Amino acid sequence: MTDSVNTEAMVQPQMDQQVILPLIQAALDARASAYAPYSHYTVGAALLAAEGEIYTGGNIENASYGASNCGERTAIFKAVSEGRRGFAAIAIAGGMEGEEPADYAYPCGICRQVMKEFAGAGFKVIVAKSLCDYKVYGLDELLPHGFGGDSIR
Ligand code: ZN
Repeated sequence: MTDSVNTEAMVQPQMDQQVILPLIQAALDARASAYAPYSHYTVGAALLAAEGEIYTGGNIENASYGASNCGERTAIFKAVSEGRRGFAAIAIAGGMEGEEPADYAYPCGICRQVMKEFAGAGFKVIVAKSLCDYKVYGLDELLPHGFGGDSIR
């Protein structure tokens, strides 16, 4: 864990719409990459790296349901496997295949934990139904008193 990145400089307390809206659009678009033949619930996630790149992911289901992976973790693991370690925000959009999101798709507990491992200071979680209907949370709001690397140092 030597190459952690300080994202504080790029994340303002109120994240700018110029940052949020492209991220939401990328999450909405990423739903098309989902593999969800069982639930037909497609999730797209778009992760903003501290360096500015956006990594996207969709949920990937499996006939052995427990082997499925959420869109958020797909995006995070893609980014981490390409050397990224610090992140500023993630946008998430989900809904029934071929339909606009009917509700906000909040990240599951496992994804919140994975976010905690790599989230930079001020990391934001954006859940979106559309470009004009979304909510922004701090990770601490979604995972209070979480267990992280600091807990075992
Ligand atoms: Zn999840």
